[in-house]
Amino acid sequence: KPVIIWFRRDLRLSDNPALSAAIETGRPLILLYIDETDIARKDGSAKRVWLHHSLKALSRSIKEKGASLTIRQGEAMAILNDIVAETQSTAIFWNRRYEADRIEADKNIKSELKAKGLHVETFNGALLTEPWEVSPKSGGDYYKVFTPYWRAACQIIEPNMIDYVPYPAPETLRGHSSVLRSDALSLLPKDLDWDDKVMQGWEAGEAAAWDRLEDFLASSVADYPEARDIPSNKSGTSRLSPHLSAGEISPRQIWHAARASNKNVDKFLSEIGWREFSYVLLYHNPKLASENYKVEFNAFHWRVDETALKAWQTGKTGYPFVDAGLRQLYQTGWMHNRVRMVVASFLIKHLLIDWREGEAWFWDCLVEADPASNAASWQWVAGSGADASPYFRIFNPFTQGQKFDPQGDYVKAFVPELKSLPNKYIHTPWTAPSSVLDDANICLDTDYPRPMVDHKSARERALATYKQSRQ
Ligand code: FAD
Repeated sequence: KPVIIWFRRDLRLSDNPALSAAIETGRPLILLYIDETDIARKDGSAKRVWLHHSLKALSRSIKEKGASLTIRQGEAMAILNDIVAETQSTAIFWNRRYEADRIEADKNIKSELKAKGLHVETFNGALLTEPWEVSPKSGGDYYKVFTPYWRAACQIIEPNMIDYVPYPAPETLRGHSSVLRSDALSLLPKDLDWDDKVMQGWEAGEAAAWDRLEDFLASSVADYPEARDIPSNKSGTSRLSPHLSAGEISPRQIWHAARASNKNVDKFLSEIGWREFSYVLLYHNPKLASENYKVEFNAFHWRVDETALKAWQTGKTGYPFVDAGLRQLYQTGWMHNRVRMVVASFLIKHLLIDWREGEAWFWDCLVEADPASNAASWQWVAGSGADASPYFRIFNPFTQGQKFDPQGDYVKAFVPELKSLPNKYIHTPWTAPSSVLDDANICLDTDYPRPMVDHKSARERALATYKQSRQ
């Protein structure tokens, strides 16, 4: 009789503890993925595009090993009941997830299947430590500040990882004797053709994740502490986020390989630490994506302005660095971290639009949209989060560009209408004399907008609104 391995956000064959446990039973395997319809928050469009390609890659790898991936769409409990009835499976294995409604769903599924006599076993396949594992000695259930959290987490992780050998991918997979019905894989958007463009610079799947990690460790990790802030530098950061988010590679594998490189990888690993910390915050605050972590922000008076929101989403704010970021997001499903902070600050502080609008836009557009990191990062910028950047820290949208994109390479790549403008004006086209604009063939307003808000007055308005909300 077979056992089920239920893939979720762990679309890989190596270092997959649930898969390894299923293989160890010696039983034939039912390798299953469910496109769940009964979830509180459906994955955004770009993430679904990524998952579509990632599942294709997983399915190919499984086939090469001699088995097949079954894909079903619907409610997880109903599908699992059907499969158990059809195949007489005796056990099910999965790696845990941390969104509140999924924890609840998994609990129910576990008890229902156990009641039917199945062996149910779950594992940590997504994090270096479980979100409940690192608790402060001084009291409280979890750390609310990153630095002490990471110090304490490393005291658990470092010794755990010294002898850790990631599970290798199996040589072969023994599938269930009869091939089960599989639903067509239909995660791509039906009404847009943007998905092909989004995937142009990416390759989903476990093998591609490894190529990216190995490349990064061989050539770029040593420069990471400085290079990570330069958005035009394509190898300045690892770009592993979509792979991590789909579980094509595990943080343990990354840690293991990074330490084995014998380079200085502490800064890079501490960013993986921010991912861990975000999961701690999500686990202890299930409404992290919808409610202010700091309740005093509930009194904040946000503006509702559809036109301004649309200008921001489409990269037409009149601030080239901000616009380049938003266009990079829409075109590639990813945005450089430095620019994320600037565009988020612009939405929240210059436009006074609720951070949840930005979180939702990123959720839909990021190939690596992550329930923990996205929500925690938006709240970090808004000032409403745990260990957040203070509200009064308002990024200047053109000096950030001048500092981190001094030659304007990033802006020119994503705002091509400005590419003939001399560097001196690339971040402030509205200050260029008309002769310069003429030479560059740019007509402000027609080819590129003037700033939609004046930086100085928007800054003052933001600070005044913040002060008012505190009274
Ligand atoms: P690297 O710099 O190479 O870092 C390695 C890995 O560490 C990343 O892949 C990621 O898993 C993790 N990491 C790095 N920085 C952070 C961070 N600040 N918080 C949490 N994890 C981090 N990251 C997501 O994975 N998904 C999101 O939905 C997401 N939304 C964000 C929204 C905003 C407003 C901001 C400011 C940041 C967001 N981030 C998110 C965090 C960060 O921007 C990305 O993880 C990073 O840019 C991914 O690129 P990389 O893989 O090259 O990162």
